[in-house]
Amino acid sequence: MSNYKDKYEMVIGLEVHAQLKTNTKIFAREGCEFGKDPNTETSTVTLGLPGVLPVLNKECVNMAILVGLALNSKIPNRCKFDRKQYFYPDLPKGYQISQFDEPICEGGWVEISNKKIGITRAHLEEDAGKLVHAGASGLYGSSYSLVDLNRAGTPLLEIVSEPDMRTAEEAREYVENLRNILKYIGVCDGNLEEGSMRADANVSIRPIGQKEFGTRAEIKNVNSFRSLTRAIEYEFERQAEILEEGGEVIQETRLWDDNSGTTSSMRGKEDAHDYRYFPEPDLMPLEISKEWVEEIRAKMPELPSQKLERYKKQGLSDYDASVIVNQIDMALYYDKLLAKGVDAKTASNFLMGEVAAFLKEEKISIEQSKLTVDNFASLLELLKKGTISNNIAKSLIVDILKTGEDAQSLVEKKGLSVISDESTILPIIQKIINDNPEQVAAYKGGKDKLFGFFVGQAMKETKGRANPQMLNKLLKTELEK
Ligand code: ADP
Ligand code: MG
Repeated sequence: MSNYKDKYEMVIGLEVHAQLKTNTKIFAREGCEFGKDPNTETSTVTLGLPGVLPVLNKECVNMAILVGLALNSKIPNRCKFDRKQYFYPDLPKGYQISQFDEPICEGGWVEISNKKIGITRAHLEEDAGKLVHAGASGLYGSSYSLVDLNRAGTPLLEIVSEPDMRTAEEAREYVENLRNILKYIGVCDGNLEEGSMRADANVSIRPIGQKEFGTRAEIKNVNSFRSLTRAIEYEFERQAEILEEGGEVIQETRLWDDNSGTTSSMRGKEDAHDYRYFPEPDLMPLEISKEWVEEIRAKMPELPSQKLERYKKQGLSDYDASVIVNQIDMALYYDKLLAKGVDAKTASNFLMGEVAAFLKEEKISIEQSKLTVDNFASLLELLKKGTISNNIAKSLIVDILKTGEDAQSLVEKKGLSVISDESTILPIIQKIINDNPEQVAAYKGGKDKLFGFFVGQAMKETKGRANPQMLNKLLKTELEK
């Protein structure tokens, strides 16, 4: 445990790069699908050949507006693109087209459990290519790097937060909620491990009670939620130790290393003027009319926070509702199930219980399983009508997950329907009473708890198929005789 938590407070702001799920690149017409052969998804624009012109992909703008609306941002009626100059072998043009002082989204917030985290801005930009660092078997017997430009020009939306977070937990929750929003509105896969969403954490510390912020370090290369929290905690300790020794934190970019669990200096932090931003002369400023924004707003799907509230109103616990909402495929499936008119709570119990356990064991998603929405709904219907018992339904759903067999025909084939026939249940009860005179005596002597024993015996005898209400009623009368 840290010794410094009662002395210093952390201040965290996050820059999240979300890769937009468009078919083609932001300024060029080739595709940007992941995993193609190196340098097959390129064009003269992406290669930065002389005399070619970028053309803005409208779908990127549509998606950015949708994000802005979901994050409560303002969409100014004008934004523009700027050149951010830097040299890197995976950036053939020698500059990145980004947005500087007039971004597409301004302000807004993301809600986490204890507060709202402010959004400063979100701006569109193009991604760079990728350098593949090869082993020590190169041309001159040394290591070398290969350039793959497939990723160059992939559309990114950089979402910059205010320095509003104070703990690693808050930062994690912010990224989780932001990711859920992006996934639900369908603009980003939100996969941190594969890099379709990347979070850089700006971390500074200050003595508790001090108003001014300390100097921040920007941490790159965190590609899981676990490394995000670890990197932030590590950074807190590192900076606290520097201050304790009378030193000064320097503003720089640091790289997180998951294996060592440490950050190390990558480069001094550039200031904006180092990039010599200037307006992109090849692209007109972009005007976004109110009508355009409203057209996009009309397409806004239900957001995760709204879904959560709806589930809670339908009777789910906070916990169950949030588990379902946090898995988008589960939530979409669950909504289809609800549309069939099933009971919300019962359906979620099965989903969170038997179904989730099976999917986890098999490492598959609900969509990949053999349990169709229709079949699930008809199983729940059989349960609701009292044709099968709860326990039978629970075991049947596992069978269906494995085989995909129809619920109704499984019940018929296996003879699993509830026995609601007095003339079948009564003799079973009478036999149990005859076979267990000691328990009967004890029960009659006041040991009420033994009632459960008799129920258990009868259920065992009928393989769980006895109608519970009828069983209870008959058992009471028989025992009182
Ligand atoms: P840059 O491009 O220089 O990284 P940005 O404005 O894009 O600057 O991002 C700065 C990020 O750092 C924002 O998320 C902001 O909230 C955060 N930030 C700014 N000052 C501090 C600070 N003192 N401590 C922690 N985070 C900070
Ligand atoms: Mg930045």
